[in-house]
Amino acid sequence: MMDGIPSEASSLSWIDTHCHPDVLITSAQLDAAWQRSRAAGVQHWIAIGTQISDVSLYAQAAESHDFLSFTVGLHPLNLADLSAKDLEKTLASWDFYRTHPGFVGVGEVGLDYSRLPESPAERESLIRKQKIFFEEQLRWAVQHDLPVVVHARQAFADAMEILKRTQIDGSRVVFHCFSEGPEEVKVLNACGMRASFTGIVTFKNAEKMRAALKAQGLDHLMIETDAPYLAPHPHRGRSNEPAYLPLIAQSIAQTFALPLPELSDRLAVNSKGFFGLHC
Ligand SMILES: [Zn+2]
Repeated sequence: MMDGIPSEASSLSWIDTHCHPDVLITSAQLDAAWQRSRAAGVQHWIAIGTQISDVSLYAQAAESHDFLSFTVGLHPLNLADLSAKDLEKTLASWDFYRTHPGFVGVGEVGLDYSRLPESPAERESLIRKQKIFFEEQLRWAVQHDLPVVVHARQAFADAMEILKRTQIDGSRVVFHCFSEGPEEVKVLNACGMRASFTGIVTFKNAEKMRAALKAQGLDHLMIETDAPYLAPHPHRGRSNEPAYLPLIAQSIAQTFALPLPELSDRLAVNSKGFFGLHC
């Protein structure tokens, strides 16, 4: 048992559906983190793309590490230096990754209005750019019938509007690190979409998040660390890693008053189904 991870959870099997192991790879810590992860029962990781450069890193790592799958995506906060031409070239380059055995989908893509510039003109232009990049990446996903990991921060309504415009199959869409309330979960679910939850659900002051979690229910639920961000209690504020996923699972099992083995089974079915995993 490591760092308060319950031994029952460690004896089960978990999938981290969203993490960013780029620094683990570039600093040669991937294998050590994998050992800790496996000891905690976390058997598979999905490395989520956020920029042009991390995709090749993940694709290469996935070739020698079976526990790793990956997605391709340009995160809305990483667009400042990118042009329309860059977007076009990036989408073309993804055709190459699409046939990679570790490739499982698109993300994270979306809208993030939490750090917009002060000047109204700059604000407008950045929002417009985020919307264009989101929609184009969605259309690429629709064209190839792929699952999509959406990042929407302080931009829920705009994100829904663009998703609907692309006529994407809702069952292909997850809103990761869900940060809205139960009403927004109902809006998502009504379109066949789902919300995924991070270590935030373990925080004492996260009542709204637990209400959203209950609204999502178990049918399509998926969980994620979003490592290295958002370490769950009792590691809050420190660096996160996939090995901490069982702490999130334990908290969720309590919220639903569900035995851990049952939660593990439900999450495995949901996650494998969504991403088409064969692990
Ligand atoms: Zn993320």
